[in-house]
Amino acid sequence: MTPAAAPRTTVVLVYQRSTLPWVFESAQRAGIDLVLVPRPDERVDPDRLPPAVVELLPLDIEGDPEGALAALRERYERAPFDGLTTHYDPVVPFVADAAAELGLPGIGSGPARAAQDKRLMRQRLAAAGLNVPGFVALDGPTGWAAATALDFPVVVKPANGFSSMGVTKVDRAADLGPVVEAVWELGRTKLSQVSGLIVEEYLDGPELAVESLVHRGRVRVLAIGYKGEPTGPYFEEGVYRAPAPLPADVQEAVVREVVAAHAALGVADGPTHTELRLRGGVRPYLLEMGARVGGSSVSHYIAAGVSGVDFAGDALRIAAGLAPRTLPATAGPLVPARGAAANYIVPCGGSGLITAVHGLAELAEDPRVDHVVQMLHPGDVVRPYPDFSGYPAFVLSHHPSTADAEEFHRSLEHSIRIDYAPQGAAS
Ligand code: ADP
Repeated sequence: MTPAAAPRTTVVLVYQRSTLPWVFESAQRAGIDLVLVPRPDERVDPDRLPPAVVELLPLDIEGDPEGALAALRERYERAPFDGLTTHYDPVVPFVADAAAELGLPGIGSGPARAAQDKRLMRQRLAAAGLNVPGFVALDGPTGWAAATALDFPVVVKPANGFSSMGVTKVDRAADLGPVVEAVWELGRTKLSQVSGLIVEEYLDGPELAVESLVHRGRVRVLAIGYKGEPTGPYFEEGVYRAPAPLPADVQEAVVREVVAAHAALGVADGPTHTELRLRGGVRPYLLEMGARVGGSSVSHYIAAGVSGVDFAGDALRIAAGLAPRTLPATAGPLVPARGAAANYIVPCGGSGLITAVHGLAELAEDPRVDHVVQMLHPGDVVRPYPDFSGYPAFVLSHHPSTADAEEFHRSLEHSIRIDYAPQGAAS
C-alpha cells in the first residue's frame, strides 16, 4: 500500500493582481498551492489560472465583509487551508481578523490597524520615541483649526489612504481648510471608506523605501531603495532604485528606525514595506509602514534582485506558519546587497485620452529589462492629478550598480512618451 501523500501547503491569497507574476512564481518555487481571491476589478479566466493557483474563491470583502468571512469559514471547514494573506493594503485588517477567527497565523488585528491607520501609526511611533513630525489627527473634515499651529508646509492625507491618493501639500495656514475639505471629499468618493484624516508637517529630503521580512519578531531588511525627492503639492510615484547609495551611519540609522517601528506597531510576522524621508539628508522619519509586500508585489522584484531572498515565497511560508527558507544567516538585520534592481514608473506626463505610448515595445530587447508591465493603453483616459487613474507602466530592470540604474532611468526619460488627444477630445 502506498502511503497517502502529505497534503500540500495551501494559502488563500486575497486580491492579488493576476497580471503581475512574482507572487505566483514564488508560490510555485516554494511548493505552495494558492486559492486566489480575485480582485473585484479583474476577471480571472478559470481556464488560464496563474502559476500555483488551484482554485478561485470570489469574495466581496469591501461590500460585504461578514459574507466574505462566512464564505472563508465555510471553505476552511470543507477543506482546511494553512494560511491567508494579502498584498493589497486596504484589506490587510480584514485578512488579519479573518486569520485570527480561523485560528491561522497572522499579524493580529491591532498591528494590522496600527500599520494601516496613519493616525494610529503616528501615535504609536511617537510613544516609542521614534522620529515623528508634528501632526494633528482628524476624525472628519472639521477640527482642522488645531493644525494651523503646526510648522508649515504641512501634508494632508486620508488616514487609511494608499497610492498617494489625495495626499496634498499645503504651504500656508490660510489654505488649510479648503484642502482638508477637498481631501475628505476625494477620500469619501475614491476610498471605499475614509476613517479620518491626518495633517502632518512636511518632511524634506530624499525618500526611501525599505523591504523587510519579519519572523517571530526578528526583522531582516532585504533592500533599502531610493524613491526620488518629490516636493508636491501632489505626490505621484516615480523611480525606485535599490540599494540606495547611503553613508554607513545613515544606513544604520534607517535600519534602526525600521526595526524599532516594527516593534512599536507590533508587526512580528510577515513582509513589510516601509517608506521614509531622510530629513536634512540624514535623519530617517517614517512616512508609513504597510504589513504586506509593497507595490502590488513589485517590492518582491526589488528585494529579490538586491538580496537574493525569495521575498514573496518566504512571505507565503510565514503566512502558512512555516519558517522562511531563503534568508541568509547574518549577524545584524541588514542582508547585504548582491546587485541593483530598479522600477521606473512611467509618468502620466499629462491628462486626457491616450492616443499613443511610445518607447515601451523596444525595451523587450534590452538585456537589463526583466519586465515591462503596461497598465494604461491608447483609448484609456487619464484624469488630472490628484485624481488617480493608475500608473501607465512599470519598467523593471536589474543592474550591476545603482549608478547604472540611474543612468538607464535617465535614458528612459527621453525614450518613453505618452501622447494625448487635444483637449476636449476625451469626452
Ligand atoms: P499613501 O499611503 O497614500 O501612499 P503616504 O503617507 O505614503 O500615503 O504618502 C504618499 C507620498 O506623499 C509619500 O510617498 C511622500 O512622497 C509624500 N508625503 C506624505 N507625507 C509626507 C510628509 N509628511 N512629508 C513629505 N512628504 C510626504
